[in-house]
Amino acid sequence: MRVLMIAPPGAGKGTQGALIAAHLGVPHIATGDLLRDHVARQTGLGRAVRQHLERGELVPDEIVLEMVREAAVAAKAAGGGYVLDGVPRNMTQARALYLMGRELGMTAQVALHLVADDHELMRRLLARAALEGRSDDTEVVIRRRLSLYREVTHPIVAWYAERGILLSVDAMRPVEQVAREILTALEPMRDAAQMQGAIDFTSLGASFGHTTSAASPSG
Ligand code: AMP
Repeated sequence: MRVLMIAPPGAGKGTQGALIAAHLGVPHIATGDLLRDHVARQTGLGRAVRQHLERGELVPDEIVLEMVREAAVAAKAAGGGYVLDGVPRNMTQARALYLMGRELGMTAQVALHLVADDHELMRRLLARAALEGRSDDTEVVIRRRLSLYREVTHPIVAWYAERGILLSVDAMRPVEQVAREILTALEPMRDAAQMQGAIDFTSLGASFGHTTSAASPSG
C-alpha cells in the first residue's frame, strides 16, 4: 500500500509514519530524516542543505525530489509499497511527485493528513527540543516552520481531497489513539488496494476518499 503524509511539524508525522510502515511492512521514507542524515555525514548534499534545515526553510525542490526518486525506485524493487513522510511540502512537489508516481506506477493511494492546532504543536515541539536538542527546534525556527506549513504545505490538502484520496485524522489525541484510528481506517483501503493491483486509484474520485475531523481550520 502507498501512503503519503501531510502534517505540520510536531503533529507526530515521524512516529505515526514509522508505526504505519511497520504495520504495512513497507519502507518508511522520511525526507527530514534522510536530509538530517546527509548533514550528519557531511555529504555534498548535506553541506548544501544544512542552512535550510537550521533556519526551518524548505530545501530546494530538485534536491528533495531527486532524493525521493531514488527512495521510490528502491521501494518499488522492495515490493511497491511505501509511507512517504515529509513530502510533498508544496504544490510544486505535489505535482512532481504525482508525475513521478505515474511514471513508476507508484502513485499514492492515500494522503494522510494529521490535524492539530498551533498552540498544541508549539507545546510539543518545545518539549521535544528540551529532550532531543534538534537544531531546528528553537522557538524562532519553530514559528517559521509552522508558518511555512500554513502558507505553502497546508494548501495541498485540498488537492488530495479533489483527487479523492484524502484521509484526515485528529492528531491532538495521544499517540496510541491516533495510531489506532489511522490503522483502522487504512485496513479496508488496503484490501481495496490489493484487489485493484496496479490500477491507479487517483482516478476513482471522491468515492475512495475517507475524511474525518476535516472541519478544523488548522492542521
Ligand atoms: P521534518 O523532519 O519533516 O520536520 O523536516 C525537517 C526539515 O527538513 C524541514 O524543516 C526542511 O528544512 C527539510 N525538509 C524535509 N522535507 C522537505 C521537503 N519535502 N521539501 C523541502 N524541505 C524539506
